[in-house]
Amino acid sequence: MPENPPLLDVRDLRMHFPVRGGVLRRAQAWCRAVDGVSITLSAGETLGLVGESGCGKSTLGKTIVRLNTPTAGSIHFNGTDLAPLSARALKPHRRELQMVFQDPAASLNARHSVGEILAEPFLIHGVGTAADRAARVTALLDRVGLPASSADRFPFEFSGGQRQRIGIARALALNPKLIICDEPVSALDVSVQGQVLNLLLDLQRELGLAYLFIAHDLAVVKHVSDRIAVMYLGRIVELADADRIYRHPAHPYTRALLSAIPVAEPRRRSQRIVLQGDVPSPIHPPAGCPFHPRCPHAQARCRVEAPALRTPDTKRPDHQVACHFDL
Ligand code: SF4
Repeated sequence: MPENPPLLDVRDLRMHFPVRGGVLRRAQAWCRAVDGVSITLSAGETLGLVGESGCGKSTLGKTIVRLNTPTAGSIHFNGTDLAPLSARALKPHRRELQMVFQDPAASLNARHSVGEILAEPFLIHGVGTAADRAARVTALLDRVGLPASSADRFPFEFSGGQRQRIGIARALALNPKLIICDEPVSALDVSVQGQVLNLLLDLQRELGLAYLFIAHDLAVVKHVSDRIAVMYLGRIVELADADRIYRHPAHPYTRALLSAIPVAEPRRRSQRIVLQGDVPSPIHPPAGCPFHPRCPHAQARCRVEAPALRTPDTKRPDHQVACHFDL
């Protein structure tokens, strides 16, 4: 039996932004925020996407949902390439492809009641009558653990965790197949992060949702992901099953990120790998391997030749690493 095609199949996606200057505001350089990313995601699966701040992971998420128009590449979702579509042609696909943002306070319209915020997707897509929509809003609130009376209140009347539940309810409104979760718990107190993560996991089980789960915190991603992609300077540098990445990280950058996760065991704490410097500017990325200025294993070849993603162990074809060497 042939395997089902992936729900999401992103190929060689690039998102370059012009850096404008001078009196005429002409493009004087390009910021390569996403620079040739290929990933797939199956129905009901969670792909964790991790990397330091500024590595391009949020831009990748926004480009996949077409909040940005990509510079190049394809975004096949449910069999249709979203990359070249106009806003009008995108509309029916937006129902099935939603996003939850990091800062629920900024992503919810403060002047609208929660009921109005949750009814908006139904209005935009012409779903149901006014009475239907009120019932749907109540059902959405119930689904994310909020009382029906929340519909008459405004976002500022809720805690951060409750506001994120409202953001999740809005994303669920049109029965999506895939939700891009962009650092959905980073802005929340540690005490409520677990509650929101558990809600996302419960919804995934009930509704068969796929998640692209973006985070800088590998400890958070570990608990929710089936597979993990590690991103550096606009590119994927390692991709594997979550368990494989944590047990056998192959890329020096992944090893450094993992070594920074706090552990109770003093012996493991001493193995921390401290990377020198910051992520280089995506406007002037280093030649060769983009990680070479910070890599403790860099050799002459790394300064001139960019490594492609490859499979170091043929017995594990799902584990891909962008490094010239088997370290
Ligand atoms: Fe380090 Fe070279 Fe591998 Fe890049 S290709 S990760 S610089 S060893």
